[in-house]
Amino acid sequence: MTQVNSLGAQERELSEARQAIASARSVVVKIGSSALTSLKGGLDTVRLDRLADAVEARMRAGSDVVVVSSGAIGAGLAPLGLTRRPRDLATKQAAASVGQLALAHAWGTSFTRYGRTVGQVLLSADDFARREHHRNAQRTLDRLRSLGAVAVVNENDTVATEEIRFGDNDRLAALVAHLVGADALVLLSDVEGLYDGDPRKGAASFIPEVRSSADLDGVIAGSGGVLGTGGMASKLSAARLAADAGVPVLLAAAEQAGIALSEGTVGTAFAARATRLSARKFWVRHAADSRGALVLDDGAVHAVAVARRSLLAAGIIGVRGRFHGGDVVDLLAADHRLVARGVVEYDSTELSTMLGRSTTELPDTMQRPVIHADDLVKV
Ligand code: GLU
Repeated sequence: MTQVNSLGAQERELSEARQAIASARSVVVKIGSSALTSLKGGLDTVRLDRLADAVEARMRAGSDVVVVSSGAIGAGLAPLGLTRRPRDLATKQAAASVGQLALAHAWGTSFTRYGRTVGQVLLSADDFARREHHRNAQRTLDRLRSLGAVAVVNENDTVATEEIRFGDNDRLAALVAHLVGADALVLLSDVEGLYDGDPRKGAASFIPEVRSSADLDGVIAGSGGVLGTGGMASKLSAARLAADAGVPVLLAAAEQAGIALSEGTVGTAFAARATRLSARKFWVRHAADSRGALVLDDGAVHAVAVARRSLLAAGIIGVRGRFHGGDVVDLLAADHRLVARGVVEYDSTELSTMLGRSTTELPDTMQRPVIHADDLVKV
């Protein structure tokens, strides 16, 4: 494994993303369930201690680190006498409520070896959709940092419903990286990096660097294992999300946490976008839930997705769902393909009366574009 993914000196020198990760002042480290728990034994405190060692070393070297730790559900199975990961939401939530307590306690005990205090922060997807919650979470994380404590973040699993879940902690970690303005995101799990196929199913080659989406052509990403929910597909989408926020990402094996966090010379490195999306566009694309959808004709699809112009009522052929001015909605092509998202200016009822009408036909109060170009983002 290490032979495949450790890099030659020359390649190491070339990679700006790796340098940025190794020297980042503020780092978010996500640890997957499979790195901390097993079906039989529950929480593995020996492995957890090794991960805490690597985080502590990075903090002592001068970086601020936020830990996003999965494993609540996995840690709750054995104490409840469950022998496999439950499918139904209620049992998952019961397991998470037992496991989260054990998980937070284990992190707390582990960091005590270094005299370091741990704060638990549980977040819901809703906290990213609402600006006020967002700001509060930001402030709490910032204060923990300034007090020298390490924040251990997880999804607030016991209250999340299927519809509003982040789904996986890779996405949560990327949103947290954006929230705290991190300079690097490190995703640690049981995979040592990105392959162009599933290495368990035959020949697949390791991809050490992803500089742009072209490097992902032909990559087949699978879904999660028995304990976590992530899988490669969710890691890739989290890496894209972080890259949009201007944050480079390292995908590496939890077993190699020490080297991943000190030198960044293992795993797959994803370069950040050269130009960050504005905070508003980032929020529209990734953080806010869409409240409805507008179906567009071909001309309007071209105007918003290619020409990057504002959306006018004339190009809208359908309105879905009930929403208010200021909500985020999906923009769909006539074949219902998602093309963009944006902040709509009008309520759904108001908008229904405007469909297909050109601006000159509309009353004075409806002269504003339906979605302004600054509030539109292609997906
Ligand atoms: N929040 C879930 C847990 O702690 C993990 C979600 C995931 O697997 O990414 O068990």
